[in-house]
Amino acid sequence: MSRFFSAEYKSLEPYTPGEQPQDQQYVKLNTNESPFPVSPKAAAAAAEAAERLRLYSDPECRMLTPKFCEVFGLAPDEVIFNNGSDETLNFAFMAFCDETHPAVFPNITYGFYPVFAEINRVPYEEIPLREDFTIDVDAYCGINKTVFIANPNAPTGIALKRAEIEKILRTNPNNVVVIDEAYVDFGAESCLPLIKKYDNLLVAQTFSKSRSMAGARLGFGAGNPELIRDLNTIKYSTNPYNINTMTMAAGVGALSDEEYTKANCRRIQENRAFTVDALRSMGFTIPDSQANFIFAKHESVDGETIYRELKKRGVLIRHFTKPLIRDYNRITIGSREQMQIFLDTLRIVLEERL
Ligand SMILES: *Cc1c(COP(=O)(O)O)cnc(C)c1O
Repeated sequence: MSRFFSAEYKSLEPYTPGEQPQDQQYVKLNTNESPFPVSPKAAAAAAEAAERLRLYSDPECRMLTPKFCEVFGLAPDEVIFNNGSDETLNFAFMAFCDETHPAVFPNITYGFYPVFAEINRVPYEEIPLREDFTIDVDAYCGINKTVFIANPNAPTGIALKRAEIEKILRTNPNNVVVIDEAYVDFGAESCLPLIKKYDNLLVAQTFSKSRSMAGARLGFGAGNPELIRDLNTIKYSTNPYNINTMTMAAGVGALSDEEYTKANCRRIQENRAFTVDALRSMGFTIPDSQANFIFAKHESVDGETIYRELKKRGVLIRHFTKPLIRDYNRITIGSREQMQIFLDTLRIVLEERL
C-alpha cells in the first residue's frame, strides 16, 4: 500500500476473481464460463463495429435497445445496460442502500456483495443459509432492508421459486429487492415477469454465462422506470460510456441468435445431469443445481485436496476457504468431453487417496 492510499479504502478487502492461468492449458471448470463459442453472429457484428471505435460509444445504447426489448418483452425505460452484472450490482448498492436502507444477503452467496457494501460504506447483514444450503425465505420477509439474492444462488446452484421471491417483494414494499439472475437461463424461474407488478424489484442479468460473452462485459438491470432512472443517475455520474461499441454490437448479434443460446443452455443442463449422476455414484453430496455449475462434497476426501490434486493434473475447479463451505468445490459444467476428462481425472485422484 502506498502512503497516498485513501484512508477510506485502507481496510478494503477486494473480491478474488477465479484463477485465469496463462501457464498451461487446463480443462477450465472454475469460473462458470461457457464452454461454447460466442454466437458467430455476435462475433461478426463485433468485428464490423471495430470500424466505429474512433467515436465514443452511445451512452443510451440505442443500437441494442430495440432488439433487446423485442426479445425480453420490456419497454426501453425499463432497462439499463451495464459493464457486466457486477456493475449493475455495484450501482444498486450505490443507489438503493444507505444508513436507513442497509443491505441484506445470505452469508453464503456471491462474494462481491460484501465488497460492494464495504466500498460504498453501506451497513449490511448476512443471513445464514439453512443447513441444507437453501435460503430461508421467511427471514427476508418484512425485513425492511435492501435485499440482494442471487437466484440461483452461488456457489450452491439452488434456486428459489418465483412465488417465494414474490413473498419477499410483497413484504418489503419500502425497500428495493435485487434479484441477481446471472444463471437463470440454466433452469430457474426468472422474475422479469414481475417487474410491472412490483415497483421495488430490480432484476440483474448478464450475457457472460448463457451467451458465452464473459469477456465482452455486458449485463443489464431491469425494473420500474423510476428505479432505472436512479441507476442512470449513477451511471452518468461515473461512466456514461460503460458499454463499448464492439460489445454493444455483439449483444445485438447474440440476441438475433436466441436459438443458439437456448440450445447451449439445454446442452449444459444435460451435461449437468450426467455429471451429477456420476459424482453421486462416486460418493459426492450435491444440492440440486439450476445453474451452469454444481457444488459437491466428497464423503471422505476433503475439498482442498480434490481441488489441488485435480489442478496438478490439468483440471481446474473452484475451491472456497470459508469454513462453512470448505469441504465443497464448485465445478462449472462444461462440454461433455470436458466433463468426461474431469470425471476420469477425479477417479484417479480418489483411487490414490482411498
Ligand atoms: C458471474 C456472476 C455475476 C457477474 O457477471 P458479470 O456480468 O460477468 O459481471 C453476477 N452475479 C453472480 C452470482 C455471478 O455468478
